[in-house]
Amino acid sequence: MSDNINHIMSANQQYAKEFGENSDLGAAPKKRLAVLTCMDCRLDPLKFLGLELGDAHFIRNGGGRASEDAIRSLVASYTYLGTNEFLIIHHSECGFETFTQEEMGRLLKEKLHSSEGEFINWLTISDRIESIKNDVMHIRNHPLIDKDITITGLLLNTKTAELTEIITL
Ligand SMILES: [Zn+2]
Repeated sequence: MSDNINHIMSANQQYAKEFGENSDLGAAPKKRLAVLTCMDCRLDPLKFLGLELGDAHFIRNGGGRASEDAIRSLVASYTYLGTNEFLIIHHSECGFETFTQEEMGRLLKEKLHSSEGEFINWLTISDRIESIKNDVMHIRNHPLIDKDITITGLLLNTKTAELTEIITL
């Protein structure tokens, strides 16, 4: 086993011992909230949103972007598990601001001698405010997203952990 797996298995045993009343939680988020945010390792959404286990769905990907797969999760979230509010949270110093579609395609071609990277939309970010607005509008206008759902776009400052509301639709 790798060092990570050794650590994880032992930490998990401790967590399981203290799991207690969490075993009574249902799958439907108590606050009827679904959050789409970045995979960045510095982001702790439960903490920076003041939420607890069982309060919300968390969908995470590179950039916190409204990709087809993120929308797949959001649709299932409101359809089967009763959420009625979505938060889309991007953040400063995001890794997806540091390269372009073309650069990623080129890098992968050099490394792996494959042009497959050119066929993936990497959803990179050139303007973080615009990316939030675009993702909120994309979800808002999506034909499979219920019009009664409130969608708010927020920016998290990675250095201070402060949130700024950018748009609500
Ligand atoms: Zn990020």
